[in-house]
Amino acid sequence: LSPGTEEGSESQSGLTTRLPKAGETILGHKFFVGFGGKGANQCVQSARLGAKTSLICKVGNDSFGNDYVDNLKKNGISTAFVGQTADAATGTASIIVNSEGQNVIVIVPGANLLLNFEDLKRASDVICKAKVVVCQLEITPAISLEALKMARASGVKTLFNPAPALADLDPQFYTYSDIFCCNETEAEILTGIPVGNLEDAEKVGRMLLERGCKLVIVTLGAEGCMMISGEEPIPKHVPAGKVRAVDTTGAGDSFVGALAFYLAYYPKLSMEEMIRKSNCVASVSVQAPGTQSSYPYRKDLPQDLF
Ligand code: ADP
Repeated sequence: LSPGTEEGSESQSGLTTRLPKAGETILGHKFFVGFGGKGANQCVQSARLGAKTSLICKVGNDSFGNDYVDNLKKNGISTAFVGQTADAATGTASIIVNSEGQNVIVIVPGANLLLNFEDLKRASDVICKAKVVVCQLEITPAISLEALKMARASGVKTLFNPAPALADLDPQFYTYSDIFCCNETEAEILTGIPVGNLEDAEKVGRMLLERGCKLVIVTLGAEGCMMISGEEPIPKHVPAGKVRAVDTTGAGDSFVGALAFYLAYYPKLSMEEMIRKSNCVASVSVQAPGTQSSYPYRKDLPQDLF
């Protein structure tokens, strides 16, 4: 069984037959703690494909924070710019799931919101010498935007994943993103257009292009992705392979992590080919339970992906 989401840095899930009412105490039958956070998930997927990765974030000076750093290290991710602070707890998402799969979730961003401009300045070498910088919105948006600006100023490719989506996203995010990659929900929040089919995805993509991005990718779950490029005006549907999905939690992060890997290590591939390969990686992740636990390693993937 999987919790519906893993938004925070560290997520704790409890499984119960029903959700408790206010003031009520009930017995659950399973409890587990998993690692999450979109940036970390994306880093883990990239690293498992063979990328050299570094995560810039902040966690608390607590046991969750220590475990979090250990998990990144185990995945071969550089933690040189993972700050630990005594001023806030590690970001968490506490999730209760009932037997029908419904959930209630409390997200406490905690230390995530303490990542600041000074932290970015300290990490400027790793940002400006990277092949690709990937940003999301689980830290203060202004800090994400600054990281994109620093990358752009050094000619580093920027991949932005506007998640969780903000209806009033600062328009500079569009102009500082070389690639703007969102899912259907995020696309709807950003544009007001519900995405139910390929035409809707195309419409959303065109609207986001007009806001200043160079290339928009809308991920469409089992349908793969729609790619809308400013250079090539024809939108392209890149389908995903048919698989038996058991848990799609974190599929979007697997996709973004894989795309970052291909952008960095196979820059000569066409964008369509990079998306096709990233679809393949993400479609493997949906065939196993959990988030990071479902992300494939290079050795377990078809070698024609490399
Ligand atoms: P998110 O996890 O952000 O909601 P999506 O559901 O759009 O993102 O999934 C991201 C990518 O994962 C898709 O573009 C696709 O490559 C892959 N994927 C997701 N669900 C499936 C599925 N049922 N079958 C095959 N691939 C899938």
